[in-house]
Amino acid sequence: MEPRARFFVDRMLGKMAKWLRILGYDARYGSIETATQIEILHREGTIVVTANTRWRHFPGVFFCEPTRVDEQCRKLAAAGLIRQEEVRLFSRCLRCNRPLEEIPKEEAVGRVPDYVAATAPSFCRCPSCGRVYWPGSHWDKMRERFRRITGWSPKDMDERRTEWAE
Ligand SMILES: [Zn+2]
Repeated sequence: MEPRARFFVDRMLGKMAKWLRILGYDARYGSIETATQIEILHREGTIVVTANTRWRHFPGVFFCEPTRVDEQCRKLAAAGLIRQEEVRLFSRCLRCNRPLEEIPKEEAVGRVPDYVAATAPSFCRCPSCGRVYWPGSHWDKMRERFRRITGWSPKDMDERRTEWAE
């Protein structure tokens, strides 16, 4: 099941875009130049997240002060735009925003460090950039941080555990 909300995040809120991708949300990222652009995004059901006061009162716009990303996530959760039951942690490429595909271990060998190839229980790959992701300790830190931000219980969020290869 895909998360329902789709986002277009203003360039000035890059960390927010990354967090939305970590949570499994479709989060495109770029400049917002015109009212027409916002109208088109709104019509296709995409939520525009911006810190630019110029767009604040446009339909389909979620205005976010350029504060800490933790605070921004909390606001999105409070507004019901991100929801615990929709979260699919690390199911999307952080670089390209594409949903990841599971791959067999043999395809990961040579693309990840040897100790990871030997020990990680599963692997995913981005069909766009080819980056390989696998379960790791990084995920635990992210999960803990997100739990602190929202108060959501980790056990109620998706248990997929992946880490990425640089
Ligand atoms: Zn990618």
